[in-house]
Amino acid sequence: MSRDEVDKKGNKKDASSSKIASKINISERQRQTLIEVVDDIAGEEVKQVTLVLLNADGETTDEEISEKLDMRLNQVRKSLYKLYDLPLATFRRIRDKSTGWFVYFWTLHPERIDMFVEKKQQEVLEKLNSRLDYEENNMFFTCNNPECPRVIFQEAMDNNFECEHCGGRLEAFDNEQLITVLKEKIIELEEVKKKTQKIMKGEK
Ligand SMILES: [Zn+2]
Repeated sequence: MSRDEVDKKGNKKDASSSKIASKINISERQRQTLIEVVDDIAGEEVKQVTLVLLNADGETTDEEISEKLDMRLNQVRKSLYKLYDLPLATFRRIRDKSTGWFVYFWTLHPERIDMFVEKKQQEVLEKLNSRLDYEENNMFFTCNNPECPRVIFQEAMDNNFECEHCGGRLEAFDNEQLITVLKEKIIELEEVKKKTQKIMKGEK
């Protein structure tokens, strides 16, 4: 733990360039999660760019990444903006006095992966809860044709209990089983969330 602090305070600006050293210490667990999540939601190219940023000593320009990966500058930039949107990376831009062009210095924020995971879990949980709410507070009707959608009471009544799609008769649909499954999923995810929080606290 103390080593961590020394390393953080030990970060110094590299005098030989205009870059700012920004290496952040993260745990192996955070590193793994970051790579998995990026690969999963953003794909292989963004993962490659992430790995370069992760192993860089400080800020890195898109051109440096492009050279290192032998990847087109366009693709590198696309990947960087995906990371920026997540938001797992930030940039600083400086105008090059000789060319007049902007140079972008990118920094990865791998420690934000914890926040990201927590946010995603919360989003899924909210979706499940609102679905449960919808199921518990409506009466559903079906024509029992698997290709036709279920309708709520008001819709069934408006159509004289006839299916809009196939003309079949609409009967009450028992959603008890669906409600049970939703409740189980919510409990399961709440457990996962608690476990995740414990892991995060333990390693911070
Ligand atoms: Zn139908």
